Amino acid sequence: MRVLIAGGAGFIGRWLCGSLLARGDQVDCVDNYATGTSANIEEYRTNPRFKLIEHDVCLPFDPPDAPDAVVNLASPASPGDYFKMPFETLRVGSAGTDNLLRIATDAGARFLQASTSEVYGDPAIHPQTEDYHGDVNPIGPRAVYDEAKRYGEAIVSAYRRELGLRTTIIRIFNTYGPYMRIDDGRAIPTLAEQALQGKPLTLHGDGSQTRSFCYVTDLVDGIIRAIDRGHPGPINLGNPGEFTILELAEQILEQTQSGSELLFQPRLEDDPRQRCPDISLAKEVLDWQPTIPLAQGLASTLEAFRRELDGGSGG
Ligand code: NAD
Repeated sequence: MRVLIAGGAGFIGRWLCGSLLARGDQVDCVDNYATGTSANIEEYRTNPRFKLIEHDVCLPFDPPDAPDAVVNLASPASPGDYFKMPFETLRVGSAGTDNLLRIATDAGARFLQASTSEVYGDPAIHPQTEDYHGDVNPIGPRAVYDEAKRYGEAIVSAYRRELGLRTTIIRIFNTYGPYMRIDDGRAIPTLAEQALQGKPLTLHGDGSQTRSFCYVTDLVDGIIRAIDRGHPGPINLGNPGEFTILELAEQILEQTQSGSELLFQPRLEDDPRQRCPDISLAKEVLDWQPTIPLAQGLASTLEAFRRELDGGSGG
């Protein structure tokens, strides 16, 4: 199978490229390095089944070869990134997604859209099931991401309804692992960097807000099953183990044996209070559930960050 991966040089993308290459697929990676890096995909450059297209997907393009599947991961994903790139985030979620859908339509390819648990906003039901329509503030600072992703789901659904495109929407919950940028502003890299450098660990609010953290190889296994099985979705992909941010900070302190203190800061605007996926649908239609517990995934992630801070490669 030839898979066109938009955003393939990002954190999740580089793992997906690697897994698809490992099972024998052709991978065409298109990326403009807005938040990804060429270093993430360096190890694949010599693989004859890997092709790199350096391009902004907001601008129409014709891939060199017609794909069998198009995977859209292209979007800034961490709050730090989309706060810095509000217009780029809105554009890639709208024009970028439209361009990729056109490529899939012309090629008769199937299409997988990486959506997000952010479409649930600050959710009123817990855990979140796919039929919950969310509670998103459309004018707050997070809206550039949340609404771009909601638009993405709408346009993917329109292509399916109107043009018969075979589409799948997955809603990814917080995912972590080696090759995250240590400075990307998400909770795990931020707290890990602070702990490893002996700086105070910054928690927003009282740290009682919850998140569920999925290790990246588990997520990528779910994405590949979703590509192969073609269920329209939306399908939640995440780890239902739920932790408060305070518990996360304590685990990081314990694993790094850091003596850092906790520093409580004001709650961020529109920061969701609870996040936890109901993954019954993924279990049923993808036969998928995560297998790597937080303590184990954190150990390899912290090791990668430690190597990076010591001047080595982050992976
Ligand atoms: P990332 O920022 O590491 O990767 C995104 C990639 O998209 C980067 O390589 C970036 O350069 C590329 N990109 C952005 N704009 C582009 C454009 N206009 N043209 C071409 N390439 C472009 O983020 P990630 O964590 O790997 O997330 C990948 C996808 O998964 C995103 O769509 C994100 O919204 C979604 N997601 C991720 C998480 C998570 O916890 N990591 C959670 C929910 C959803």
